[in-house]
Amino acid sequence: MMIRAAETCACPLQELGPSMAGSCGSQFIIFMSILESFINGRCDLVDPCNRVVEREQYDDSYDFVVVGGGTAGAIVAARLSENPQWKVLLIEAGGEEPSPCSVPAWVTAYWNKNETDWNYKTEPQEKACLANGGRCTWHRGKMLGGCSAINGMMYMRGHAADYDGWAVNGAPGWSWFEVMPYFLKSEDNKEISDGVSGQYHNTGGPIPVQRFRYAPRFAHDVVSAAIELGFTPTSDLNGETTTGFTIAQAFNDGGTRFSTARAYLRPASHRENLDIMLNALGTRVIIDPRTKTVTGVEYVKNGETKTVGVTKEAILSGGTMVSPQILLLSGLGPKETLDKFNIPVIKDLPGVGQNLHNHVGVKLDFTLSKEPDLPELNWESAMEYMLERKGPLSGTGMSQLTGMINSRFAPSGGRHPDIQYFFGGYYAACGDGSLGPDDLENANKRKISISAIALQPKSRGFLTLRSGDPFDYPLFQPNYFQDDHDLAVLVEAARTAYRLANTTILREKYGMHPTENYGKHCPGGGSNPTDEFFKCLAQQNTAPENHQVGTCKMGSSDDPMAVVDPTLKVYGIEGLRVIDASIMPTVPSANTAAPVVMVAERGAEFIVTRHQRFKNKFGSNTPTKGGATSHDDRRTYYNSNKDSKWNNRDWVFNINRQNTQKPQDWYRFNNVYPTRQSHR
Ligand SMILES: Cc1cc2nc3c(=O)[nH]c(=O)nc-3n(C[C@H](O)[C@H](O)[C@H](O)COP(=O)(O)OP(=O)(O)OC[C@H]3O[C@@H](n4cnc5c(N)ncnc54)[C@H](O)[C@@H]3O)c2cc1C
Repeated sequence: MMIRAAETCACPLQELGPSMAGSCGSQFIIFMSILESFINGRCDLVDPCNRVVEREQYDDSYDFVVVGGGTAGAIVAARLSENPQWKVLLIEAGGEEPSPCSVPAWVTAYWNKNETDWNYKTEPQEKACLANGGRCTWHRGKMLGGCSAINGMMYMRGHAADYDGWAVNGAPGWSWFEVMPYFLKSEDNKEISDGVSGQYHNTGGPIPVQRFRYAPRFAHDVVSAAIELGFTPTSDLNGETTTGFTIAQAFNDGGTRFSTARAYLRPASHRENLDIMLNALGTRVIIDPRTKTVTGVEYVKNGETKTVGVTKEAILSGGTMVSPQILLLSGLGPKETLDKFNIPVIKDLPGVGQNLHNHVGVKLDFTLSKEPDLPELNWESAMEYMLERKGPLSGTGMSQLTGMINSRFAPSGGRHPDIQYFFGGYYAACGDGSLGPDDLENANKRKISISAIALQPKSRGFLTLRSGDPFDYPLFQPNYFQDDHDLAVLVEAARTAYRLANTTILREKYGMHPTENYGKHCPGGGSNPTDEFFKCLAQQNTAPENHQVGTCKMGSSDDPMAVVDPTLKVYGIEGLRVIDASIMPTVPSANTAAPVVMVAERGAEFIVTRHQRFKNKFGSNTPTKGGATSHDDRRTYYNSNKDSKWNNRDWVFNINRQNTQKPQDWYRFNNVYPTRQSHR
């Protein structure tokens, strides 16, 4: 009872969002409710003094209106409001991030709930998700922090060649060399020289990055198994080594999740010039059809449709599934689509909603016949978390493990792997408090999953409107496995997963083997599975990742399918940008949260640069923290912002750098030669 009692915090505690206990099922409800009430009573987890206080009334107009307070939008709003002379409004469709989101093991607790997950379904697929009737489920966070509040927190950046590919294919300024500073700017890496190198990582940014405090023994043994198979040992797939298996770093600190809302927005929430509107759906951008300039943003709150004025820019950060929807509803998109729904055409932009793509994989199931299936969450592990924020609740079980390898289809050179592995099992998500059965011999055996993912899929789909009603979800057609390449990669990926399961350590210590009868509807299984078996398995038990990108593609002005230019401005419209995962022309070869953070940092800086420069020129504004005067004038910027470690980062300009390599050398040593192009 002592432990259950709420702490006295500097500000009143509040319960935010729906309860998570119910997501575990009725058999767990008592224990989970006790745990949840503990979480809702801790100052460090609820963070009550930094939560958003909504205003009774909002201003008629703002300098900047950001639509979507998710992974990117939270960052953009926080960065723009660093200038006290700008008024910023953030409109978020969901509510505050519930406090239990902070518990890493409860990663799935807010999935499938209407209040916190958009829970999209794709159109029926001919070749994927067949075990679910062809419809794949796409989770998306509906709250401040967006997906960064419900995701697996894994911190992966993708590879140099991903961004160099963007740069050569119409997005000059986005090569690895040029985006790297924005990864570093956001990062507060706690493990430099303790697993990761200062050559590739930074401290002092808003997002704490490190391994979770706890990983199951089995995860470490999988890493050993991969070494047994011949994969290079690595403790950092964002560093020198690009392939191998490792327990990944994650967005977390003190045993708790750090969403971008927590890392960026909450510290900014007291700013006078930042208003945050919750539970409000951004529906349209209002554009003067004559001047093609944004004048306002329309939204619906409490059933009322209202408009707020925009004096500088509107920024869409609704994510890959929503930013294109808002563009279409605003009269920006393929003319035929707009005509079909009687939406007046402001600008015919054929690329809006096209180029939808995502990582996709096959989910494989394994049994550990020597391991009883004991609950990871029990009284003991709960106490460990309650008292010390340690133990299974402070991690994500097997989900924190990952591996990257090259298939024979991967680009040559070996530094651009095209397969990633995600793991499932050993979750401490739900429990009734018990330690499990006494009779370990006859207990159920533990199951784990390996999702083998194609990182460079060639299939492309699209999204489009279902109707002109902004409350109707768009129609999603990913066309999974439309291109045979994607299945071919997965066959190789699945075979390697089977070899991993059959290594001495996993076979002998755990009795790991493919679960009997898993995939029994697919011919060719058994001890020597055929390629056809794995293809069938991929189509039945598809692992559609949550890394959708591309629907507002960034590209050059001569690319008719480009929606935004390399400064993320919507083509042909004044005062409108898109800043989120949708602008990525191709998905990076890794998880997408850190790349979205980079895009948001970069996008925010474009805006600051554009408007601060204008103000400085006319002498009516003073540069403030974070206010670069010009993108091209970085030396001045860094010299005049000496208070932040990022701004003083020695390897950028300072000749007294401590690192032994310059970025240019890094490219040379790694055989990666970014193509340099000038801006249009
Ligand atoms: C379940 C899951 C697990 C994942 N795991 C990982 C991982 O471990 N590591 C990793 O790197 N990546 C992971 N990802 C992917 C990564 O989190 C996303 O790619 C990234 O967070 C997307 O950021 P975003 O800003 O583009 O969109 P979002 O974060 O989705 O933000 C969009 C925001 O806009 C709001 N919104 C939508 N419509 C409107 C509207 N009309 N008006 C106002 N607001 C609106 C939404 O509520 C949301 O807050 C995962 C994703 C999911 C869903």
